[in-house]
Amino acid sequence: MSELLHPDQYRVPPGGPADLASRNPADRSFFSGEKREGRRLAKALNRRLEQLQELLWAEHRHRLLVVLQAMDTGGKDGTIRHVFDGTNPQGVRVAAFKRPTPAELAHDYLWRVHPHVPGDGEIAIFNRSHYEDVLVVRVHGLVPEDRWRRRFDHIVAFERLLADEGTTIVKFFLHISKEEQRERLQARLDEPHKRWKFSKGDLAERRRWDDYTVAYEEALSRTSTTYAPWYVVPADRKWYRNLVVSKVLVDTLESLDMAYPDPEEDLGDIVVV
Ligand code: ATP
Ligand code: MG
Repeated sequence: MSELLHPDQYRVPPGGPADLASRNPADRSFFSGEKREGRRLAKALNRRLEQLQELLWAEHRHRLLVVLQAMDTGGKDGTIRHVFDGTNPQGVRVAAFKRPTPAELAHDYLWRVHPHVPGDGEIAIFNRSHYEDVLVVRVHGLVPEDRWRRRFDHIVAFERLLADEGTTIVKFFLHISKEEQRERLQARLDEPHKRWKFSKGDLAERRRWDDYTVAYEEALSRTSTTYAPWYVVPADRKWYRNLVVSKVLVDTLESLDMAYPDPEEDLGDIVVV
């Protein structure tokens, strides 16, 4: 995809800061063309991702973990639907992390996460993740500060472990504005077929927007590493968000230098009768 450079401006440099306040959720510095052209490029990237995923699966050597985090209505579901459209469900798994069950709460917070990391040849997509344990947990004071604060180091170490053992990790924070969230929540109320997505709890969380912003700022700053970088994706425009995420994933997979496994020898003369 020679037309587009890697959207490096959205990567949080290791050591941070994420600097959310200065990042515009409606930014389009990565691609200034029209929406139609953007969608065309996204489609082409889609097809490329499809091929790369097949190669990943065929080679069975690398593992890819994709972490998605966002404020409510940030577009995690839509991103998964669009960006992975056309990939083979056999090699792609989505793990959604909701409120922990009593059994999960009876263990350390990574206990429920580790079983869902990708195996050889697989892509695992985390729809919410272990980051909730330094986000919602912090905002709601679900565990004391000295306890959640130590989690930044655990998370960095956990991701380091995964990376050392052969997992490529890429993390996306889908960055929407508070006004965009207002519009999306209102749309869920106004359109009958979207109402199922609305929860009154989302309004309570919205009132804590600033607290979540502080929590995200620190989480992204503390945990963006060379081996598990965070990208802050401008997400007010859905097509632009998809384009950026697709491009990062395609570049990430291309950098793995994958190849189809060698076929068995002497297949050229075989004729199947
Ligand atoms: P989403 O909002 O991700 O699209 P959903 O609307 O289908 O999913 P929700 O129940 O709203 O389902 O979302 C999951 C909820 O679980 C979120 O409010 C999230 O903060 C919460 N959650 C996730 N992990 C944890 C955790 N470790 N501790 C407490 N709450 C958590
Ligand atoms: Mg929700």
